[in-house]
Amino acid sequence: MSLQNGLTYLAIPGPSVTPDRVLQAMHRAAPNINTGALTEMVPDIIADLNMMAHNEGYCAPYISNGHGVWEAALANTLSRGDLVLVLGTGHFSHGWKTIAESMGIDVEVLEFGRTSPSDPEAVAARLAKDPDHRIKAVLCVHVDTSSSVKSDVEMVRAAIDAARHPALLMVDCIASFGCDRFEMTPWGADLMITACQKGLMTPPGVAFVFYNDKADKMRETANCVTHYWDWRPRTDPEMFYKFFDGTAPTHHLFGLREALAMISEEGLDMVWRRHTVLAQAIWAAVDHWGSDGPLEHNVPKTLHRSHAVTTIKTGDSGALALQEWCKTKAGLTLGIGLGMDRPDQYFRIGHMGYVNAQMILGVLATIEAGMKATGLEHAPGGAAVAAEVIAAQA
Ligand SMILES: *Cc1c(COP(=O)(O)O)cnc(C)c1O
Repeated sequence: MSLQNGLTYLAIPGPSVTPDRVLQAMHRAAPNINTGALTEMVPDIIADLNMMAHNEGYCAPYISNGHGVWEAALANTLSRGDLVLVLGTGHFSHGWKTIAESMGIDVEVLEFGRTSPSDPEAVAARLAKDPDHRIKAVLCVHVDTSSSVKSDVEMVRAAIDAARHPALLMVDCIASFGCDRFEMTPWGADLMITACQKGLMTPPGVAFVFYNDKADKMRETANCVTHYWDWRPRTDPEMFYKFFDGTAPTHHLFGLREALAMISEEGLDMVWRRHTVLAQAIWAAVDHWGSDGPLEHNVPKTLHRSHAVTTIKTGDSGALALQEWCKTKAGLTLGIGLGMDRPDQYFRIGHMGYVNAQMILGVLATIEAGMKATGLEHAPGGAAVAAEVIAAQA
């Protein structure tokens, strides 16, 4: 029999769970795009996003998903034939690389594998070997959603500075924004991208490029920029209509407005704290499951793990059967092993955005039931260990 009928949980790492408040804010007749509530709302949305990003520079909104702002970030700063250094920590670093290559940009990958973060010393060493400053930008994915590896952006900045290299530091915070602490200006990121469907709890469709004056200066000479991706009109407050270069993403903006209100009501520090504790509960469960048998964290060190997504290695090929069981028997959809050599040995839990203790405890107990039912080797009792973490922290 199946026990899946009821409230389902899509625990993939994006799109994340959309709060009812966001859905209700979107449920309305089409608004006027020229005057009224919509146009009045946008400056506040941008201000809130800048505050959330700790950004003292600009924020350009686009109707797009994350792939769009990957392209926008490169288009506004680079020219064909420029060289960029991609810090490889998983599938998404390589995704950004593919976009750069398709634009005629030369790419070099500094590969760190799938289980550990960018090594600042390796970054500094590579930049030191570039006395002519051919490398125009360093592309760092803060949290790589496939491996669940988190890189230390401040340390990457320090490495670039130590090498006295002028390369722009571009950071992909699509998975981490609103989940893992990130402070753009204090940490010295020159450019950051994010999208609305993960920590921002809004259906996919709006994405953002945050940038500083140094990045904007590169816009002067960048020959990759095209009309749609040009960030200049999008950051001009007098040109709301052009913010979106045409019709604004009307309902998404109402949804996003509500999501940002929810984040501000809870307080960003509390939002980060909630993600931290829920991640710790998951880690404790995984550690316990793996205490007897081959199951383990993909990322060995806690310091290198995301608070938004967790990648788990099952050690045998039972991950697919587990995912299938959780979905069809219990209404829980887990993330797949993305970009791994053996996808059948990995699953992921998305715990970004609108998630709370009861959802995470439900996810963990369901996974435990699924492991038992499908015969996936594990030490029973991980969900109870997670409950202890929640009880101690909450
Ligand atoms: C989700 C994600 C992307 C891609 O975003 P899309 O909206 O699917 O294009 C890129 N980078 C990271 C780190 C992500 O988590």
